[in-house]
Amino acid sequence: MIALSIVVPIYNEEDNIELLYQRLISVIEKIGESYELIFVNDGSKDKSIDKLKIKAQENPFVKYIDFSRNFGHQIAVTAGLELSKGESIVIIDGDLQDPPELIEDLYQKKKEGFEVVYARRKKRKGESWLKKFTARVFYRILKNITSIDIPVDTGDFRIIDRKIVEVLREMPEYHRYIRGQISWIGYNQTYVEYERDERNSGVTGYSYSKMFKFALDGITSFSDFPLKLATFLGFIVSIVAFVTLLFALYARYFTSNYEPGWTSIIISILFLGGIQLVSIGIIGEYISRINTQVKRRPLYIVKDTNIEK
Ligand code: UDP
Ligand code: MG
Repeated sequence: MIALSIVVPIYNEEDNIELLYQRLISVIEKIGESYELIFVNDGSKDKSIDKLKIKAQENPFVKYIDFSRNFGHQIAVTAGLELSKGESIVIIDGDLQDPPELIEDLYQKKKEGFEVVYARRKKRKGESWLKKFTARVFYRILKNITSIDIPVDTGDFRIIDRKIVEVLREMPEYHRYIRGQISWIGYNQTYVEYERDERNSGVTGYSYSKMFKFALDGITSFSDFPLKLATFLGFIVSIVAFVTLLFALYARYFTSNYEPGWTSIIISILFLGGIQLVSIGIIGEYISRINTQVKRRPLYIVKDTNIEK
């Protein structure tokens, strides 16, 4: 049995792989347990996979999973977890924003009897204010509208027990929000704090549109709040409409100076139209996720790997 699996999603990280490997190996040597390093190449357009294969030739504990195309970060992590064999499993980014040295602290903390030890960022270096701002706002909204306790300011950098991976396997959802799923699973969870570094080299694989999709996945997977909001708005608008109706009838039959009001009509039409469109959109977001889920397509397609089942 392997003590430690380290899962690294890789998307266009060719210039980071060497340093990443060196830093991972030195922390593993410090820990001194048996290990495997699993790199998941998520359809990189650069030479990442060639570099990974060279590493795998040099070191038999290096495993690679090569996807047929880009499936996205969460799916890459999922594949790594599913094919891992370790008692403890670390999830870490491949761009060195998550310092590999922290794995030692995570591992020690886990030994104190926790199933999940996540790394919570105290600071984020070298990211735009817009990214930090949107992330801050998003995590706080999510915290307020879900019933489970998803920790704020935490990515997927963490160590988890084999038990957690086994439960994740039983959660076949297509739109994955791994950090939320792990919170949902429960057991003893704790955290250590760290300062998030800048990317070593290359550019982010998370465009704002990918981030927005990811945020919607997080919300729709763990909260019905937007649907309830649509219902709530419907009620409020109905109450306002009813009061207006009483007033309009009163003005028509009990006063002499009623005006045919274009303003009030156009405002109510636009207002109602807006609310209806927003509500349909919200329902649509949920339906589209049901749609992808019922197709039951495989989550990812492995083109090549050196992991034996
Ligand atoms: N990544 C991936 N598939 C993608 C985008 C990113 O596997 O479609 C990997 C990437 O190589 C990195 C990690 O996921 O190891 C985090 O991505 P990135 O650093 O681009 O995101 P950011 O840190 O800017 O949020
Ligand atoms: Mg990054």
